Amino acid sequence: MTAQARTFSGFAPGPVPLDVERVRADFPILRQTVKGKPLVYLDNAATTQKPTAVIDAISAYYEEYNSNVHRGIHTLSERATAVYESARNAIQHFLGAAHREEIVFVRGTTEGINLVAQAFARPRLRDGDEVLITGMEHHSDIVPWQLVCGKTGARLRVVPVLDNGELDLERYERLLTERTRIVGVVHVSNALGTVNPVKAMIALAHERGVPVLVDGAQAVPHLAVDVVDLDADFYAFSGHKTYCPTGIGGLYGKLAHLEAMEPYQGGGDMIRRVTFEGTEFAAPPYKFEAGTPHIEGAVGLGAGLGYLRALGLEVVGAHERALLAYATEQVEALRGVHIIGNAREKAGVLSFVIDGVHPHDVGTILDSEGIAVRAGHHCAQPVMDRFGVPATVRASFALYNTFSEVDALVTGIRRVQEVFG
Ligand code: PMP
Repeated sequence: MTAQARTFSGFAPGPVPLDVERVRADFPILRQTVKGKPLVYLDNAATTQKPTAVIDAISAYYEEYNSNVHRGIHTLSERATAVYESARNAIQHFLGAAHREEIVFVRGTTEGINLVAQAFARPRLRDGDEVLITGMEHHSDIVPWQLVCGKTGARLRVVPVLDNGELDLERYERLLTERTRIVGVVHVSNALGTVNPVKAMIALAHERGVPVLVDGAQAVPHLAVDVVDLDADFYAFSGHKTYCPTGIGGLYGKLAHLEAMEPYQGGGDMIRRVTFEGTEFAAPPYKFEAGTPHIEGAVGLGAGLGYLRALGLEVVGAHERALLAYATEQVEALRGVHIIGNAREKAGVLSFVIDGVHPHDVGTILDSEGIAVRAGHHCAQPVMDRFGVPATVRASFALYNTFSEVDALVTGIRRVQEVFG
C-alpha cells in the first residue's frame, strides 16, 4: 500500500513526492529474503545500505583509474586526485560550508571528534576548565573528552536530559560559565531520535565566546544541514550512515580554527617541507590528512552525496517523518510497549522496550521474521541509565523504507508478545 492511500489519525499524509519503489530499485541489497521473508531493514542508524551509484563509482575507480592521489604526474593519478578532491566539494556543498579548505576527510564522526578533542581542545585546556557535553551523547562524543580532560585537568560537565528525551535547556544555559572552553552536542540522538536545537545552543555558547562541536552522525541523513546558518565551529559526520561507504566521513571546521590548530597526525601528504631540524606543515585541510587517504571511500562518498542531493533532503526528510509518525502511532497503541524518547522534534529513530522481554530476545524474534533492528545500548549507555533500562529495541528509518515495513514491524512485535505470553 502506498503512503498516499493511507490515512491514520494525527497525521495527514497528503501526497508524498518520494517515489519509494523507484528508490528501492537503486539498492540491490534490499531485494533479498532473510529467513525466508522479504528483508525489512530497520537498522539504518547503525549503517545505511548503498545505492548502485556508490557501488558503481567504487568499481569504476578500481577498474579504470586506481592510483594514489596528490603524488603522480600521470593520467590515472590525476584522475584519482580530481575525483577525490571533487568529493571534498560534494561535502562542502552538502554541509553548506563557505570554503572547501574547511572540509577534512576523516574515518567518520568518531575520528572527527577525536581530532577536535586532541588538536583543538587539548592544547587550550587548563586545570579547572570545563568541557560541556549533554546527557544524550554517543560514546564517541564522551570518551574523547574524558581522554583530554584526563590529560589536562579539565572537568566534564553534562547537560541533563528531561523525561521526554529533550535537553534541559535552562540547565544548559546555567552550565555555560566562564570556565567552559568547548561544547560538544549531538544534533540528532541515535538512542532517542531527539533533534536538538543546536542553532540556539550555539548562539548561547557564542555569547560567552565558547566554540561548539556538533556531532551530526544522525542528522545529515535526515535533515538539510547548513553549517554557516548554524554557525557551528565544528561539525562531524560519517559517510556510512548517509548511503556512502564505511571508513570515510567529513569534519567541517571554521577555517580560522583549522589554521590555528596543530596537526592531528604526522606523515606524508600533510607537509610543505621536511628536514631533520623541523617540518613546515601544509595548509588546512591537508595538515590534518597524513598518509594515503581512503581514496575509494571518498570516491563512493562523492557519488553517495550526489545521489542524496538529487533526491533532495527535504523530500527524503518528509518521507521519513511520515514513516516515524506512522510507526510511533502504531507502536504507542500496543499494550506493554513503551517508547523511550518522546521529544517534540525527532528524526529517524524509534526506541522502545517491551514489558517482560529483553530487547535482545525481541531482536532475535524480529530477525526470524526477516526484520533487522538494533537491540542494545546503542553506544549511549548514559542514556540507558537515565531512563532506567539496560537496553532498547531501536527501529531506525531511511529513505527506502515503506509503510508496509512499519506494518511488518508492528506484526513482529505482536508475535514477540505472543511468544512470551
Ligand atoms: N554519533 C552518533 C550520534 C552516532 O549515532 C554514531 C554511530 N552510531 C557516532 C557518533 C559514531 O559514528 P562512527 O562510528 O561512524 O564514527
